[in-house]
Amino acid sequence: MHSFRRGMLIISNGPGIDVDVPMTKNHLPHAVSRLRSSRLERSTRPFLARGGPHGERCAGCRLILSHCLCALRPVVPTRAGVCLIMAEHETLKPSNTGWLIADVVPDTMAFGWARTEVAPALLALLADQEWQPYVVFPGEFVAPERVITQLLPAHHPADAPGQPPDARPVTASKRPLFILLDATWPEARKIFKKSPYLNQFPVLSLAPEQLSRYRLRRSRRDDHLCTSEVAALCLGLAGETLAAQTLEAYLDVFTEHYLCAKQQLKVDSEDALHQRLRALRLPA
Ligand SMILES: [Zn+2]
Repeated sequence: MHSFRRGMLIISNGPGIDVDVPMTKNHLPHAVSRLRSSRLERSTRPFLARGGPHGERCAGCRLILSHCLCALRPVVPTRAGVCLIMAEHETLKPSNTGWLIADVVPDTMAFGWARTEVAPALLALLADQEWQPYVVFPGEFVAPERVITQLLPAHHPADAPGQPPDARPVTASKRPLFILLDATWPEARKIFKKSPYLNQFPVLSLAPEQLSRYRLRRSRRDDHLCTSEVAALCLGLAGETLAAQTLEAYLDVFTEHYLCAKQQLKVDSEDALHQRLRALRLPA
């Protein structure tokens, strides 16, 4: 059963359960949105689904309606894909940035992680010959022979052009798939250790010089990168510059909206962050 309410498509999933999903002309609910909805269905705290005590949240961006970001959502088609493996509570955090990746990168897949079971769809994705998976994880915690700091030669942007097709390795036809563990650091380590189906794939470790260049450019002081920043770095390695820059600019605008909402301040949609995001838009 479908019905409309305040611009949302309400999908009735059985007696007493309504799940709000964003319904706009261009955007169907993405993978992280669907994962969140299914997590909310199992929630015993119904206020979570309705935005909690601080006002109703938009189902499209999770912000309170006065600070909705949906009109600014950029979509950048990429050859690379992203596979998010998410700790269960990450999907519920309004500040989770895996959501932003799914907003921007159409081929974003998302799965909830559990120690005792693995989604058959995740295994099918990892076995799909269309993709070359890379597990993105710090190399210092991994056997050195698995660790790479650049994409495999076929995916390295500098190696791809000019090569005759028959000289390229078989992986040339595969699309890079970045597996990101969207979790706190202790959880990410646990997911990495206790997911044997990831063991067969190379570990892409972001090199310290990449990270420090990134921090300088972004004036970041702390050591922690959020999931969408890691995704932006990976997309940059794959030569997807527009997607990488868009994801960074979108994170900045999201953070601005998120913090303004928390502090009950109005957003200035003409500030430098919004202008930068608009400047990156593809011509229609
Ligand atoms: Zn919204």
